[in-house]
Amino acid sequence: MNAPHTLPAPPKPGSPEAIADATSFVRFERVRKSYDGIHFVVEDLNLAVRKGEFLTMLGPSGSGKTTSLMMLGGFEEPTFGHIFLGDEPVERLAPEKRNIGFVFQSYALFPHMTVAENVAFPLRYRGIKGTAAADKVAKALGMVHLGHLAARKPCQMSGGQQQRVALARALVFDPTLVLMDEPLGALDKQLREHMQVEIKQLQRMLGITMVYVTHDQSEALTMSDRIAVFNDGRVQQLAAPEMLYEQPANSFVAGFIGENNLMPATVDATEGGIATLTMGDGSRLQAPNPAGVAVGAKARLAIRPERFFIQVGDARGPLNILRGPITDMFYLGDHVRLSVAVGGDKPVVARIPVSQRRPFARGETVTLGCAVTDCRLLEG
Ligand code: ADP
Ligand code: MG
Repeated sequence: MNAPHTLPAPPKPGSPEAIADATSFVRFERVRKSYDGIHFVVEDLNLAVRKGEFLTMLGPSGSGKTTSLMMLGGFEEPTFGHIFLGDEPVERLAPEKRNIGFVFQSYALFPHMTVAENVAFPLRYRGIKGTAAADKVAKALGMVHLGHLAARKPCQMSGGQQQRVALARALVFDPTLVLMDEPLGALDKQLREHMQVEIKQLQRMLGITMVYVTHDQSEALTMSDRIAVFNDGRVQQLAAPEMLYEQPANSFVAGFIGENNLMPATVDATEGGIATLTMGDGSRLQAPNPAGVAVGAKARLAIRPERFFIQVGDARGPLNILRGPITDMFYLGDHVRLSVAVGGDKPVVARIPVSQRRPFARGETVTLGCAVTDCRLLEG
């Protein structure tokens, strides 16, 4: 598959791609990685991270995120391809010369050291001592609001506090790049959401380049400037959060980011960028066709649950209408979640705001409307 992010050939000097590369700070070029010499867990990774950017590698477990991060950090070697940090291929740089900070899911603090000693560790390693070191430790602990706990041991702290110490340790030596691999995975939901905002604010304030790994799409949407969506060792799409949500490049991205109804469809005609589709039950619908899916091709029509509304009376504007009995319904405070059997292989899910709610009943037939422009046609 040729995802839009791939850079198949080196860009021409002066081209937009070359300029993007010139401002990029980290670059993966045609990187492939195999642990066993047979199977590639990272396939043809081409990715440029801009200076000061918060870039997230998002994908399901086993999709190659950690391996990609480890190659950037210098803990794994690419089987093929190159990674650049600034203009330098990292292969020539020892990990400690890369000036990279790390935060992992397991806090990896030294249990016998105090918080301050843990944070000072990267400085000692770099030959920074005395008051210069003490000042940097105090500043880093201040940034994560732990100045008052400098003398504690890690075992005397909560998980959230320990992860803050790990964060301070990653920032203390003024790294130009920080890598984080599922750093909030062990925290409960409320603390996780709080830390997401805090990390994002620190990154913005310090102007550091961040490459962040998570399998949690809402975390990625909250924190990132851009997200690289991984599946099966390949980047499926690289885009800003809103773009990923509104214009997913394929069915995987459409289904992985947020919720989507992905309905099998056949393309009958396509004119002026709008395709006419036959659905599984024989009904006809329309959708914009930006990817240019060909007539006759098997396709999927993607419609977000929140884009449906209950249609009453005559349709106005270019609308798709789906009709069927309610098979399931859940009241969720701000919306009602309906499953409606519209005739395809599975019911569509619609989120109807409570303000639109009338008393629904299971088995009742409803008419769902959806603006044609809120639908999206995808290959496959
Ligand atoms: P993710 O972080 O997206 O969950 P990983 O990069 O950890 O994915 O793993 C990608 C694939 O590589 C998985 O199939 C995993 O089992 C395999 N893998 C990861 N690390 C190693 C290793 N050190 N040796 C062998 N296989 C590995
Ligand atoms: Mg991982």
